[in-house]
Amino acid sequence: MPDQTNRVTNIPVDEAIKICLEQTGLMNSERLPLTAALGRVLAHDVCSQREHPPWDNSAMDGYAVRWNDICDATPDAPAILQTIGEVRAGGLSTQQVNINEAIQIMTGAPVPDGADTVVRIEDTEIDGNSVQILRPNNKGGNIRRRGEDVSLHHKVIEAGTRCRPGEIGMLATAGVVWSQFYQQPKISVLTTGNELSEPGENLDPEKIVNSNAYSIAAQVSESGGLPIFIENARDSKENLEQKMRQALDADIALVIGGVSVGKYDFVKDVLADLGCEMKFWRVKMRPGHPVAFGVLPALTSGGKQKLLFGLPGNPVACMVAFYQFVLPVMRKMMGMKQLFLTEVDAILDEDISIHSGRRHFARAVTTYDEGRYHVRLTGAQGSGILTSMVQANSFLVLPENQGEYKTGETVRVQLFP
Ligand code: AMP
Ligand code: MG
Repeated sequence: MPDQTNRVTNIPVDEAIKICLEQTGLMNSERLPLTAALGRVLAHDVCSQREHPPWDNSAMDGYAVRWNDICDATPDAPAILQTIGEVRAGGLSTQQVNINEAIQIMTGAPVPDGADTVVRIEDTEIDGNSVQILRPNNKGGNIRRRGEDVSLHHKVIEAGTRCRPGEIGMLATAGVVWSQFYQQPKISVLTTGNELSEPGENLDPEKIVNSNAYSIAAQVSESGGLPIFIENARDSKENLEQKMRQALDADIALVIGGVSVGKYDFVKDVLADLGCEMKFWRVKMRPGHPVAFGVLPALTSGGKQKLLFGLPGNPVACMVAFYQFVLPVMRKMMGMKQLFLTEVDAILDEDISIHSGRRHFARAVTTYDEGRYHVRLTGAQGSGILTSMVQANSFLVLPENQGEYKTGETVRVQLFP
């Protein structure tokens, strides 16, 4: 059989990303209450149905006063005002503050009519039914203005935003209980290999532990998708095909391992048998070279095509490939604007010599010091060494066409989510 997959092989990272994104459509949306919004991506702009604060209110415990009555006060010559009442949070004053009068006010209470300034309790002295204002501060001080945070019908969150706790607080503030969110893509995780044993099982001498199923499923969750674990496939065409059929039930199938050139690396053949159209095979990067991408055309009219990634078996290579290709695809599916890991410039804190003609994603720790990012590697960079991944918070991205990097040079860094 002609090897259709070899037609697009060993391509640059940027080209591979472009091919993946070209095949990526948008998920449908669903209506959810704000209690289910954490980590979900809004499918429409949210406009506030309320003003916030809804009225001028006090930012401090103190006295609501008229600026003209107190503006000249000093500790030696305080302004003396008649206290005519109080207003607490959740209360509403029916009284009006007239010349040389004050109303005691608690934080969050609406500012009574007539008052234009709140003086903190620390700047006053209580004297029976009157209050001495020792320090006037400034006109309009300590008042949170109506609508200063959110004005009515104003756009408060944009479509494509992934909701963090702050966004959820804003939805609540804006009076928006239900919103449309993009559905979470279902992403199957299928590991392959006779040598794999599950964590916690007895390790026979010929076995290694299946870590990828768990690290990759965690990346799926972290990125806002729903991971579906498929039982590990053995390195036989029959077993692989059976498991792959299950995996292809999801929006995206991630098939891990078995994509190299080993005698038992059957993933490629089985995919072709199942009707997958491979778009590329191998990318000029390290780690993560044996990464593959394909599509399974929609089986019904109106159905959606499935996307499929073959990820390298080595534990770090697998995670690197996920962040470079699967993450942007997932983000695009969920309608997010920022598709890639955040990139910043950083000062290199050590010399590096690396010659391979491929783009390197080196595990690194990036710190922020006196207005600049600094970066250094976290240790051994073998594609199976998870220790240096655990210590890293970023990838140092080393371009294809350069080999020597000197301390003090500006380099590009991708920050982990
Ligand atoms: P492969 O691409 O299948 O040849 O795998 C490359 C290397 O990654 C081999 O040393 C495998 O044992 C290892 N490997 C493959 N799958 C996993 C997995 N799920 N967890 C941990 N290591 C794996
Ligand atoms: Mg294998």
